[in-house]
Amino acid sequence: MGLYNIIDRHFLLPVGDLIYGSEIARQWKALRQAEYLPYQQILDIQNEKLRKLVKHAYDSVPYYHKLFDNLGLRPEDIQEKEDLIKIPVLTKQIIRDNYDDMFSSTIDPKRFRKSSSGGSTGTPLQFCTDNHEWSMQRASTLRAWESYGLNLGDRIFSFGGNSIARKKKAFSMKDIYDRVIMRNFKFNSSEVDKDSLKSHLESFKRIRPVAVRGYGSSLVIFARYLKEVGYKPQGIKVVLTTGEVLMTNYRKELEEVFNAPVFDAYGAGDGGIVSHECNCHTGLHITEELCVIEITDKAGNVLPDGEVGFVTTTDLENYAFPFIRYHVGDMSYIKKEPCSCGRHTRQFGEVMGRAGRLLYNKQGVPISPTMLPMMLYPHLDYHCLEYQKEYNKIDRFQIRQDSNGDIQILLKMKEGVNDTAYREEIVENYKRHFVGSEVVLRIVDDIPLLPSGKEDYCVSEYNYKS
Ligand SMILES: [Zn+2]
Repeated sequence: MGLYNIIDRHFLLPVGDLIYGSEIARQWKALRQAEYLPYQQILDIQNEKLRKLVKHAYDSVPYYHKLFDNLGLRPEDIQEKEDLIKIPVLTKQIIRDNYDDMFSSTIDPKRFRKSSSGGSTGTPLQFCTDNHEWSMQRASTLRAWESYGLNLGDRIFSFGGNSIARKKKAFSMKDIYDRVIMRNFKFNSSEVDKDSLKSHLESFKRIRPVAVRGYGSSLVIFARYLKEVGYKPQGIKVVLTTGEVLMTNYRKELEEVFNAPVFDAYGAGDGGIVSHECNCHTGLHITEELCVIEITDKAGNVLPDGEVGFVTTTDLENYAFPFIRYHVGDMSYIKKEPCSCGRHTRQFGEVMGRAGRLLYNKQGVPISPTMLPMMLYPHLDYHCLEYQKEYNKIDRFQIRQDSNGDIQILLKMKEGVNDTAYREEIVENYKRHFVGSEVVLRIVDDIPLLPSGKEDYCVSEYNYKS
């Protein structure tokens, strides 16, 4: 460990906590101590947090108060996670319909952190968290990274869409935090033409990163560019992928180009899910101190381990905007076999529902599927309220690319909304990325689900041949 790592961990991070009102240093230490606890002890922690959360939700969140009263339930009826079955699942639609009733009345709105889900399932959601939840998520990520040999203070080159690196105009306080304490240098991957990639490579050389992080598909675009120009990165300890399904061949490519192991992660800010691969690479360990995960059918019945179903989460840390039995929109299963790394937390197998396969335009330029939802409102900042307002008009959407490479954008608008003001702009933006393709936007009444029941927002039959 270098001098900067030591200063960062013991001085900069605690000072950052004081300035930003967070508690990452303290929670990181606590999570480190809990990392190898026997499963029963993890369950005890979970159940204690669950009882507290349910009481809080009943006492201070109008939606849950009404729900419990209607069902004749008392908070005391939920003692442990097996009791959660008594509570119906929470969907994005229910949240939207009851939005104002989802906030806790006991938390000062000034302490809310506005957030939004990535929209990778085609239905983005605006919600709130607070500094505590944010700290817990950061702390559990630091714990995982540390186990890969990455220390706080090691430089990270991040490359991905808005959930990884926002497209932004001005330098902010958050940038100082990211660069000085997290040492995370972020680059938005929405432009991947040769000039942009060249400029990203210049930044990469300047930063001399120890880790690379991003969407698998975005990193593959960058890795292929490095190969093309004959640049061999040196000194990379790990490649961290997140935000979409990591294709097996992309993992191999990334490992080759960066000459480092790839560790995948799956998280959902809405629902408090954090999960990471360990050194065994056999699945994604769920940070069960932070959330209760159930795999259920659509109605909320719990499925046995090994069976694929909806990821249903209860966020044990979000007291501002509680999520209890929330359907994130992804599908997965719990691995039956325990992991040999010594951790007792359960593992997700493959997570489905987050696109990951690259699309190509007619010129062979790859396009990350995770960028597609963000391309619907190119003139708006992804995190701003106006973006959410516009995006919330869309009930669901699907981007279809036919075998000729032409594009159809299907939008199902929310009830009462029969048009989008940005129709032309959306088409123009898609044309800019899918150069040479015909782009048609259609407002439709419904978008059929795939046979798997999955809501796939991106379907491509196009195989680019040079
Ligand atoms: Zn493990």
